[in-house]
Amino acid sequence: MKIKLVRAEKIKDSRKENTISVFVKTEKGLFSASAPAGKSVGKYEKPSYIKSLDEDINLVNASSKKLEKINLSEFSNLEEVEKVVKLGANSLFALESALLKALAAESEENLWQLLNENANKFPIPVGNCIGGGLHTRNVSGKKPDFQEFLILPRAKNFLDRVFLMQQGWKLCGERLKLRKACGSLNDEGAWSTSLNNEQVLEIMQETREELKLQLDNKIGIGIDIAASSFYTGFIYNYLNKKQRLNAIQQVNYISELINNFLLEYVEDPLNENDFSNFKLLRESVIRTRPCLIVGDDLTTTNLERLKLALKKGSINGIIIKPNQIGSLIQTRKVVELARKSGVACIMSHRSGETMDTAIADFAFGWQTDFVKFGIHGKEREVKLNRLVSIEKSFL
Ligand code: PEP
Ligand code: MG
Repeated sequence: MKIKLVRAEKIKDSRKENTISVFVKTEKGLFSASAPAGKSVGKYEKPSYIKSLDEDINLVNASSKKLEKINLSEFSNLEEVEKVVKLGANSLFALESALLKALAAESEENLWQLLNENANKFPIPVGNCIGGGLHTRNVSGKKPDFQEFLILPRAKNFLDRVFLMQQGWKLCGERLKLRKACGSLNDEGAWSTSLNNEQVLEIMQETREELKLQLDNKIGIGIDIAASSFYTGFIYNYLNKKQRLNAIQQVNYISELINNFLLEYVEDPLNENDFSNFKLLRESVIRTRPCLIVGDDLTTTNLERLKLALKKGSINGIIIKPNQIGSLIQTRKVVELARKSGVACIMSHRSGETMDTAIADFAFGWQTDFVKFGIHGKEREVKLNRLVSIEKSFL
């Protein structure tokens, strides 16, 4: 592929904050990609920018001539790109995504086909329905301490899974309103509420029952605890309702919630360094019921941290956020090792998102088991719809 020009610029994300967009010009046209931004950012994520967004934009623009000399003909040539220009994780992710979109167009393929033309299995969406933690403002002075209350829909087709998830989101909103505990939508389009963790889980449970009766369809319930966001060094400091738990008490508390509410998915139940207590929770859960114990801030899409988690037996699920690491070569290695080790992969959006749909193609191309793209809001729906349209192309 002949690269004619590479340019970077600033755009706004869904939080109206600045982020990077990169476009690549080739004989086939213009191809652009942009990076999202997290708020509950893991300590071990690569920095989003080398020094600042502006400096990374200048770096990309100043490297155009060098990038134009690369003969990009397959995914692994991204190694050349990474040698030519050193960027922060957001900028590298946007640059590599734009280059891959351009490369797919060279052979008139979809981005996912460039990654894996044999892909055929559609992921289960994991949708953020009610929110708390760092993504959410207080409602009447309160909010749940857990960051996300999630729906895992079970239906045959991806389209039906999305529909079921949206039904669940609507029903949860109605229930919160009936209890006069509903605020506005949060950063990820999830309902905000003054209720505490257990009260929200009751609402989720009631919704699960209602959907079973109404549609004869089942949803599973999950949570993203994002525990590092309320860990103070020794103690998990809950505000709603107040409790201060040490690590062992936290393991017991989460294990109880898994059993009481039949949770199927628990992300970041402990702080981002605590590989051992992740393992303890996994062991206590294995004895009782199947549940994914998922690393996000723990693993940060980083191969070395995944290896550590595997060695310690900490997780059976891993969040894949390409902009935590920047390099798509590294991202693919994480997905491959996770798959080989029987760890479920969840391709995930960030709380600050753009209209880019590349992660939907990465998820399908790399055949991740789940996608966590949210439920409501244009930046979330565009990614779900991308998978719906890929599914349609198989009809
Ligand atoms: C998450 O923690 O899973 C998440 C999407 O949050 P953020 O993008 O704010 O890191
Ligand atoms: Mg998370």
